[in-house]
Amino acid sequence: MEVASNLHTIKKRISEAAERAGRHPDEIKIIAVTKYVTPERAKEAFEAGIHHLGENRSEGILAKREAFNEQPIWHFIGSLQTRKVKSIIDKVNVIHSLDRISLAEEIQKRAEKPVDCLVQVNVSGEDTKHGIPPQETMEFVNQLANFDKIRIIGLMTMAPLTDNQDEIRQCFKELKELQVQIQKLLLPFAPCRELSMGMSNDFEIAVEEGSTMVRIGTALVGNE
Ligand SMILES: *Cc1c(COP(=O)(O)O)cnc(C)c1O
Repeated sequence: MEVASNLHTIKKRISEAAERAGRHPDEIKIIAVTKYVTPERAKEAFEAGIHHLGENRSEGILAKREAFNEQPIWHFIGSLQTRKVKSIIDKVNVIHSLDRISLAEEIQKRAEKPVDCLVQVNVSGEDTKHGIPPQETMEFVNQLANFDKIRIIGLMTMAPLTDNQDEIRQCFKELKELQVQIQKLLLPFAPCRELSMGMSNDFEIAVEEGSTMVRIGTALVGNE
């Protein structure tokens, strides 16, 4: 399918989910996850009007950047190895996967200007998932106070691998609750306005639960 027609359908579904939750659809940014597809397909997404693109590997971002004259807003959504920070730090706009102090230290060391980061939280507790345990998230954020190259713009999570919609919804609710707690601290370095949650199979639930950034690959650009 053409990206433009997929986008049309997804926007409609987002609008309807937003409406059910009494939200405005403009509060939700669509990030096209292009990790499975060619640079040409990524360009098609950009030309269809999606200006936020997400990749989960440094090689993916570096290779795709070459295909663009005008660069999209690049989101790094995958687990980020410390040794890869140097090669991507001035090539991404948002890092969704801040999940350890050693990574924060490397970003602090390599970045020339403050970087917008989201703390990845492992709400579901699945061993295979990266992220800070929810009960340690507040302390983790507090520890970032002296990192002047890191701005905590929000939190990110991945729903558990399950067909159980209630379990998925519960995961998103917990991330929202954590966001509210962090916002209450009024930390200048952690405005925490964004919630990055929702993928091809669960973005409507995520929107109903307060997502501001949905990361959609398969349903938008495909997966081959
Ligand atoms: C691959 C990936 C996505 C997109 O997944 P789809 O199910 O294809 O929409 C979103 N977020 C992260 C972190 C991913 O790695």
